[in-house]
Amino acid sequence: MSITASLTRAWRIAADIADPELPMLSIADLGILRDVRWEDGTVSVLITPTYSGCPAMSAIADDITAAFAAAGIAPVHVRRVLAPAWSSDWITPAGRRKLAAAGIAPPTPGSAPIACPRCASMETAMLSPFGTTACRALWRCRACGEPFDRFKCH
Ligand SMILES: [Zn+2]
Repeated sequence: MSITASLTRAWRIAADIADPELPMLSIADLGILRDVRWEDGTVSVLITPTYSGCPAMSAIADDITAAFAAAGIAPVHVRRVLAPAWSSDWITPAGRRKLAAAGIAPPTPGSAPIACPRCASMETAMLSPFGTTACRALWRCRACGEPFDRFKCH
């Protein structure tokens, strides 16, 4: 197999890894997966955490290593890339649709109003900066009264 074909296959394997905190999204959907490349004779998978110290990153690294081992690609080197910092702009359109379908408000730039993922009302307010996971904040819709998670902007 050529290196290009191998890397294409390696990218597909890495792009299939689900995010531990948002399992409906892959790490490619979230923009965490930055690159898959050859470095010093091994496959390197470059990932950028959604924020520094994100506890999910070691789980993601373990999942990548396991998926590549299962596919017969070993060793694989998972490398964290901290610069440039992850931005919610890196979430793909498909990723944003999956977030909304799961009832999680996708990140919006700056201080743009947050629409309720259930009824689309803009009458929403943050209840707590701490949601069900470290990467989410808890919001509540004043129109339908439902709480919802908002994926934090970084
Ligand atoms: Zn609502």
